[in-house]
Amino acid sequence: MQLKEEELYDFKKEFAEEVIKVLQELIRIDTTNPPGNETKAAEWIHNFLSKEGIESEVIESAPGRGNVISRLKGTDNSAPSLLLLSHLDVVPSQDLEKWEVPPFSGEFKDGYVWGRGSLDCKGTTAPQLMVFVKLHREGIKPKGDIVFAATADEESGGHYGPDWLLENKFDLIKVDDVVTEGGGPEMPLKVPHYTIQISEKGVYWTRIRTHGAAGHGSMPGPSKNMAIVKMMKVIEKIAKRKPPIIIQDLFKETVKAMDLPAAWITKRIFTSKRLMRFSVWMAKKFFIKEEIDHVIFPLVQNNITPTVIQSGQKVNNIPGLCEAKLDVRLLPGFDRDDLYKEMKKVLGKKLFNEVEFIAIQDQPGGFTPTGTDLYQKIEQTIKNIEPGAKLVPILSPGSTDMLHFRKKGIKAYGFVPMKLGDLSAKEFSALPHGYNERVSIENLMLATRFFYDLCLKY
Ligand SMILES: [Zn+2]
Repeated sequence: MQLKEEELYDFKKEFAEEVIKVLQELIRIDTTNPPGNETKAAEWIHNFLSKEGIESEVIESAPGRGNVISRLKGTDNSAPSLLLLSHLDVVPSQDLEKWEVPPFSGEFKDGYVWGRGSLDCKGTTAPQLMVFVKLHREGIKPKGDIVFAATADEESGGHYGPDWLLENKFDLIKVDDVVTEGGGPEMPLKVPHYTIQISEKGVYWTRIRTHGAAGHGSMPGPSKNMAIVKMMKVIEKIAKRKPPIIIQDLFKETVKAMDLPAAWITKRIFTSKRLMRFSVWMAKKFFIKEEIDHVIFPLVQNNITPTVIQSGQKVNNIPGLCEAKLDVRLLPGFDRDDLYKEMKKVLGKKLFNEVEFIAIQDQPGGFTPTGTDLYQKIEQTIKNIEPGAKLVPILSPGSTDMLHFRKKGIKAYGFVPMKLGDLSAKEFSALPHGYNERVSIENLMLATRFFYDLCLKY
């Protein structure tokens, strides 16, 4: 294994090799969710910790859905405690022919560890685990507890992971501060700016149904009475919807923290509801030269996206029911009532009344403000590693396990620092959940350095 000194962030080569090896072993355990099967990975970690003389517990929330937790006791009961959190499940790896290396190989190639989960999220589990082990090996006694947890089911909402643990095993996972995935990648700006996730949109998945006259396909009645046709009308109206721009304080904070060129004017146009669409168009045309709509607009809009549609079984049967699913993501402060108000406006009263709405999941968006001691610790830690580095607080359009902790009043940030290296921001952001997911050794060790130094502040 050839490692370069500048990738090691002052760690010994042997230690870096251990971090890499742990990551490879974890990638090789297939924890694709569904079904998850995280117990195999949780047990691997449990055995690894046992060999180091560290106690841990594997807790199954359901058969196969394992979580592993270990606590390094602090010396002062009143001192704040820190949870190093990651998840063990990974998303499916489709289109195997598009992968340069098989997704569960964990191969080390060209300075990267390759495979499903190498970034999301085993590439966080491995550094956190090795930092936890290192603290124990060195006999470091923190003031507050340091807790390590690698959990199940993040990719499907965390219901068999943190959600379940916080409800059923609160004493085991109880902490003051949480640091996990969800933010940290560097932004393509001159001075190093790292994103930190402080808030996330709410998830309001919804099933919708239209009903119509069933019958034989050879004798159709008026098409407007058919369930499928009604649903097509609904979907078309949703697709044509132009979601209003909603600029919340957090978005203004994000833009302010980015130190954009010509700061005064860019801040003005990027935080103006009226100029938002125009400024994104300008930015694409003249500055960024990348498709950024899908990055920017979800931060200032409530999104309603049809993702599943089902109806009919047989070519000669007119089905009486058509069903669709909507992936609804609402900005913090909005809820299901707002969604229905909006749907009424989009569909018109008549069509709205013909559609049946069924909630699949309601998770309000969460928020941890920037003014906390944990935020300061993170900021100081990254500035120590990289002088001049800045944090950019962001809203995440997708949801993470942090929402379960925030619901309980626990401070949580998404921060695993990562450099873009030779990839563009777009290429980098396509890696988790995409083909050829991989993590550079530099990023693996930067994350390790960060978590280690952060723990020393406890
Ligand atoms: Zn993840």
